[in-house]
Amino acid sequence: MKKHNYSAGPCILPQEVFEKSAEAILNFNNSNLSILEISHRSKDFVSVMDEARSLVLELLGLEGKGYQALFLQGGASMEFLMVPYNLMKVDGKAAYLDTGTWANNAIKEAKLFGETQIVASSKEANYNFIPKDYSIPSDASYFHCTSNNTIFGTQMKSFPETTVPVVCDMSSDIFSRTLDFSKFDLIYAGAQKNMGPAGTTLVVVKEEILGKSGRTIPSILDYEKHIKAESMYNTPAVFPVYASLLTLQWLKNNGGIAAIEKVNEAKANLLYNEIDRNPLFVGTANKEDRSFMNATFLLENETHQETFDKMWKEAGISGLNGHRSVGGYRASMYNALPLQSVQVLVDVMKELENKI
Ligand SMILES: *Cc1c(COP(=O)(O)O)cnc(C)c1O
Repeated sequence: MKKHNYSAGPCILPQEVFEKSAEAILNFNNSNLSILEISHRSKDFVSVMDEARSLVLELLGLEGKGYQALFLQGGASMEFLMVPYNLMKVDGKAAYLDTGTWANNAIKEAKLFGETQIVASSKEANYNFIPKDYSIPSDASYFHCTSNNTIFGTQMKSFPETTVPVVCDMSSDIFSRTLDFSKFDLIYAGAQKNMGPAGTTLVVVKEEILGKSGRTIPSILDYEKHIKAESMYNTPAVFPVYASLLTLQWLKNNGGIAAIEKVNEAKANLLYNEIDRNPLFVGTANKEDRSFMNATFLLENETHQETFDKMWKEAGISGLNGHRSVGGYRASMYNALPLQSVQVLVDVMKELENKI
């Protein structure tokens, strides 16, 4: 039987995506060729790329608003440096919100390019909350934030109003909730958290912010070059892009972001209610900042760990261990995780309470 997969990434994808991807490896579009052996310039694959790019904009409500969607490589980590390379003006500066490990990694790369101002940080509290009172310098080339902190289980519920371009790492909550995406000038996300397999990175960028940094950018790192080449500057990650398209189609056929948001809310509420009710467990993130994608929690008494671990594994649950830097537990409830899987976890938590 299929496991209840709480992996933080690469993560669960819809079952139909696994099945259709497997089919395409054997016989893509009834061509009697595998998707793995055809040219990325073939008509069949170009239409995959075109549809994936336009479906991204459609689902985010960004069609006809001056945005371009790109499927690049190098992971979200590559965007940590492509963002300052393309956007930070020579002798300019950038503003960053420090909400966790990934934000920190982005800051590290930005510092290679110029002055990087940290407008606020929750580091002192081991990143268990989202800072809210801060100002963004109006002379910054851009403001960078991380919408969902995959490791610490916090999520930005609102975003600051600012006159500078807003860049957001949405790796672990893209397509999970409705937002006014037109408030962002550049969004990026590694596919493997909520969109597809590892190997491709989605970048959604408002074209008008590009070409202003005054830097000479190597071609492969230049967003404008990728836009001009329609995301085919070099060989794209053909299979990850195809599997991402299948996930996007699944999302659209199931009512889009607004519909999945309701399911995600139901899943998160079910689990957080149990964490708060059950005296054996404690949540680690500040309540108002709790992530609806990654719920982090601990056992009040660690001596129960062995029993609990055995119980959830026996219930068919996989991937519940916290990030190696934090410990405890982390339940990643991405779009494709069914409500039923969360019920199984909650039942195990109740069972532990009854047993002890
Ligand atoms: C996983 C993750 C990353 C890193 O993604 P890679 O594709 O492995 O480089 C960056 N940011 C966030 C928020 C993440 O969850």
